[in-house]
Amino acid sequence: MSAPQSCPAKVLAVTNQKGGVGKTTTTVNLAAALATAGQRVLLIDLDPQGNATMGSGVDKRALKRSVYQVLLSSVSAEEAWVHSENGGYHVLPANRELAGAEVEMVDLSNRETRLRDALAPVLDRFDFILIDCPPALNLLTVNALCAADAVMIPMQCEYYALEGLSDLVNTVKRVRSHLNPRLEIEGLLRTMFDPRNTLAQQVSDQLQQHFVDKVYRTVIPRNIRLAEAPSYGMPILRYDRQSKGALAYLALAGELLSKQSKPGT
Ligand code: ADP
Ligand code: MG
Repeated sequence: MSAPQSCPAKVLAVTNQKGGVGKTTTTVNLAAALATAGQRVLLIDLDPQGNATMGSGVDKRALKRSVYQVLLSSVSAEEAWVHSENGGYHVLPANRELAGAEVEMVDLSNRETRLRDALAPVLDRFDFILIDCPPALNLLTVNALCAADAVMIPMQCEYYALEGLSDLVNTVKRVRSHLNPRLEIEGLLRTMFDPRNTLAQQVSDQLQQHFVDKVYRTVIPRNIRLAEAPSYGMPILRYDRQSKGALAYLALAGELLSKQSKPGT
């Protein structure tokens, strides 16, 4: 079923306060996979490390404008986004400047909804907006959660994974009751998965018991090509289309799209 012209973008915050779980890898490669499927995609880099920006082939050191100006001044999203040639999507880029935004936003009005307000005029121009969150439950992440329809939570299946998850789920609940009643958990994504690792299998089983159909069927395997691609400024689909990592992110895009066409499930 194709979406009607006026259907606003689905906004997904890719988030987990733990670092190194595959948020940026997921945001970049899912954006590219959705673009390959003909979707109009905007990737928003909300991490001052700018890894999603660089991984999309956009030089974070040479930005004229970034998401920082969009949050802090009157620069519009459209004035700041750039096109990723390697990814086939648009990027609202970030660099170290964004680290100051947390402090500077505190005294501004609507500090939690500045990203949502900036995106409102452009929602009709995309099918998906994916937000790469920083590894913290800070004001930047709260801005992502206020702007989002749903969160996608990448996680490694290791011993402490479930502990951090309850903090995140509580934050989602708090944002839902105070700031954004429509926020949902889109799904939990198992990343860097090694099926030969018994502990990973056990944690994966526990996840499915607790979260049932909130766990994506698609599993992202540990794949060295996924780790190599960012140093070339390329999503995996551009770097090595036949790799297991590329196939996994294409499958994830397919799973996401099939969910969209079944509202209420
Ligand atoms: P986060 O954004 O959550 O901090 P990243 O996406 O930057 O996590 O991933 C952390 C590191 O692990 C990076 O070096 C990345 O290249 C690597 N990585 C991520 N996913 C995979 C994977 N499926 N297989 C192998 N390496 C991966
Ligand atoms: Mg990251």
